Amino acid sequence: VPKQRLLVVANRLPVSAIRKSEDSWALEISVGGLVSALLGINEFEARWIGWAGVNVPDEIGQRSLTEALAEKRCIPVFLDEEIVHQYYNGYCNNILWPLFHYLGLPQEDRLATTRSFQSQFAAYKEANQMFADVVNEHYRDGDVVWCHDYHLMFLPKCLKEHNNKMKVGWFLHTPFPSSEIHRTLPSRSELLRSVLAADLVGTLKDLQYYELECQRVHSYSGAQGTPDGVEDQGKLTRVAAAFPIGIDSERFVRALELPQVKDHIKELKERFAGRKVMLGVDRLDMIKGIPQKILAFEKFLEENPIWRDKVVLVQIAVPTRTDVPEYQKLSSQVHEIVGRINGRFGSLTADRSLDFHALCALYAVTDVALVTSLRDGMNLVSYEFVACQASKKGVLILSEFAGAAQSLGAGAILVNPWNVTEVAASIGYALTMPADEREKRHRHNFTHVTTHTSQEWAETFVSELNDTVVEAQLRT
Ligand code: UDP
Repeated sequence: VPKQRLLVVANRLPVSAIRKSEDSWALEISVGGLVSALLGINEFEARWIGWAGVNVPDEIGQRSLTEALAEKRCIPVFLDEEIVHQYYNGYCNNILWPLFHYLGLPQEDRLATTRSFQSQFAAYKEANQMFADVVNEHYRDGDVVWCHDYHLMFLPKCLKEHNNKMKVGWFLHTPFPSSEIHRTLPSRSELLRSVLAADLVGTLKDLQYYELECQRVHSYSGAQGTPDGVEDQGKLTRVAAAFPIGIDSERFVRALELPQVKDHIKELKERFAGRKVMLGVDRLDMIKGIPQKILAFEKFLEENPIWRDKVVLVQIAVPTRTDVPEYQKLSSQVHEIVGRINGRFGSLTADRSLDFHALCALYAVTDVALVTSLRDGMNLVSYEFVACQASKKGVLILSEFAGAAQSLGAGAILVNPWNVTEVAASIGYALTMPADEREKRHRHNFTHVTTHTSQEWAETFVSELNDTVVEAQLRT
């Protein structure tokens, strides 16, 4: 039996493309939570559709990139610079992202935001239609189309308008904000209605907020929330229970057995000999609470001079969305604090992004991982750390605002990242935790991470989507 084809549509393809000449390209697997999750699916014949992250204005470039990507089962959507600016930097990263993470609409220069809003929203819709065009071109009967995240809220509607028989799912990888935040979004009704064109909508968490907003938006048009989902003009969209994502834990466990990773672990142990290692791994994003984390570490060292030469905090801060001014500000703020603390204690290293093997080695030598997101989706870093800790059994300090708090809460030390005093105290507690308590907590987390994998997550979503479509056919 041939495998079912799965068209995974996400803003970014899981590769970055660098142009080598007029018609040749170097492709690299790129960083990101969704990418790590979907690398683990084997059930389906998956194809990716998305933007390659580069501007390719010429036909030779577009053709050669399309060919190079085809080998990786990737299909590019070409977005020009202006669209990227308005749709991606503007509407996605400056409007939707902060709003969905409770930061609200951009605070500074509200009027400018208001003025640019209409053109950015128009570009967002236009970009979503461009994704739809590529899906339509490659779609075959029986395929499942799985749309991802806040970048593509318009896509289900575009796809269903073109072909009502297409099986379309949509999944949100971010939090969904409560109504008081969400309702400030000028286009909220239009966006939610477009999402509801899908056959199945999935969230990581915050399902109750999402459902409430759908009902609110639809009550104006007579649509109703039912126990099975939202019904609008006879069409039922299933809003299934939340689907918590996981990681491909095997991939991490296997990596630790590789000779080059073992060598790297040995090097790191030598480098940090005599010190406990604390680790943070985050994109350099406002939601990750990096300044708050570093301030808590500073407070801990201030209050516990005995630890000053016995602990090091390694903070990996991956540059992200560097074209958006808010992110540029954050970057200089973090560098300033890091510089100051290093001037005082010299116990902090802030590094740039790492490749997979280097990251695994670092996870493995860590005594205490520190996740202090102010808001977050699942936070896969916390899962990855746990997967790499079979021998060390280190401690996870985890923000209560990360999705992982619901699954790893019993094994981790949960903190409110805004409470610097609490985080500093938790650092002390984690560093001195007795071995039996560490083992018990680790066992809980490790069992969860290795049994709730990304493969299982993807399979569950797609099979629910298939079932939903069958049920809908039976109803009519
Ligand atoms: N990551 C990486 N290299 C780095 C830092 C991070 O590959 O130098 C990966 C990490 O392994 C994880 C992802 O980036 O899979 C971050 O996912 P998470 O859910 O924690 O946060 P997101 O960045 O999606 O908000």
